[in-house]
Amino acid sequence: MADKRIYLCLAHMSESGLEQKYIKEAFDNNWVVPLGPNVNAFEEDLRNFVGQDKEVVALSAGTAAVHLALIACGVQPGDEVCVQSFTFCASSHPIKYLGATPVFIDSEKDTWNMDPDLLEEAIKDRIAKTGRKPKAIIPVALYGMPYGIDRIMEIAGRYDIPVIEDAAEGFGSRYDGKVLGTFGRFGVLSFNGNKMITTSGGGALICPDTETKNKIMWYATQAREAYPYYQHEAIGYNYRLSNICAGIGRGQMTVADEHIAHHKHVQKMYEELLAGVPGIRMHSQPADARYDGNYWLCTLTIDEGLKIKDQEKAYGKAVIGAVGGAAGVVHQAASLTTDCQPNDNVEALRMFMDAASVEARPLWKPMHKQPVYQGCPAYTNGVSESLFRCGLCLPSGPCVTDDDVRYIVEKIKEAIL
Ligand SMILES: *Cc1c(COP(=O)(O)O)cnc(C)c1O
Repeated sequence: MADKRIYLCLAHMSESGLEQKYIKEAFDNNWVVPLGPNVNAFEEDLRNFVGQDKEVVALSAGTAAVHLALIACGVQPGDEVCVQSFTFCASSHPIKYLGATPVFIDSEKDTWNMDPDLLEEAIKDRIAKTGRKPKAIIPVALYGMPYGIDRIMEIAGRYDIPVIEDAAEGFGSRYDGKVLGTFGRFGVLSFNGNKMITTSGGGALICPDTETKNKIMWYATQAREAYPYYQHEAIGYNYRLSNICAGIGRGQMTVADEHIAHHKHVQKMYEELLAGVPGIRMHSQPADARYDGNYWLCTLTIDEGLKIKDQEKAYGKAVIGAVGGAAGVVHQAASLTTDCQPNDNVEALRMFMDAASVEARPLWKPMHKQPVYQGCPAYTNGVSESLFRCGLCLPSGPCVTDDDVRYIVEKIKEAIL
């Protein structure tokens, strides 16, 4: 038994405690508001980190960044937006906030991210069916893995459709030497508690220029017109990052490179230790020097034929909490199973690891298989659905020690019959 529980990816503060120093400064100077010196300095740190002469706006969440990017791309009710189906809901929900329709694009086998061929097929087909182009394209760096951005940008350019890169999980991942989020018109970052770096909760939008940055900033602060009183001529949002949270972000930026290096180190250990285990395959980036993923989460797939202990008990009783239990509010599931779920051996391994104090989690369920998105157009090839059925995320990040990785691998081997 492990003497502690090993989680997927936990917040990890800097050894130097800089986060607390910057928070204290905010209190000492009474900057306890959603603007101030920490917000400005954090944005400057982010600008330096992403490079490429970009502007950055710090926001209250990555979801807010997706929402504002869509608004800046002119997305309106009735419009369509192409979005990777294999993702977390924050990539697609804001499309719905705007009364627009997501058009889901399935994944390619090697990166697990948006399949460029399907993207082009979808664009052509939407134009043929609706007479209009999709308003934006959202590829997602799932688990930090870079998407095939060269081809996506080429296609987007040919049809003149803006790209919003969802690099929420891919903070610091690079393609061809450039940080993800800097290729498209916009780049989304997240600093939620479980991401590569955290502000407890927060996000940022990478913008192409000052004018666009100012527009995003304006929408993020309730779209106030320049009068001595509140005058509103557009609907805005309260999406700016708090100066307290930005203080945490400033401290975290001093260890961002260390965090990324550690995630890669953990991935490498899993790859080495699981190399000889039949039926288990670590997912790793294409053997192409342009791909430099951050391995935010380490993931594996399990052959359907592999037998795991207590496999026949999988899905036997309701799960309390798990991913459905955010904020302590458990939304009672309507049934023990759904028509699209991980294979029994995957669920059995998840339960085995749970009993061994290791958090493992199924891969994200593709959005085109989610009941809430029933009826939305989807261009599929079966890749994301079959990955969802056989994949699992393993703990990663600075809180996971070398001993933890060895322990986790031992437990996986023990679980196999
Ligand atoms: C985390 C995440 C976001 C943004 O989420 P917030 O929790 O709102 O910061 C967006 N897209 C993906 C794929 C994510 O994983």
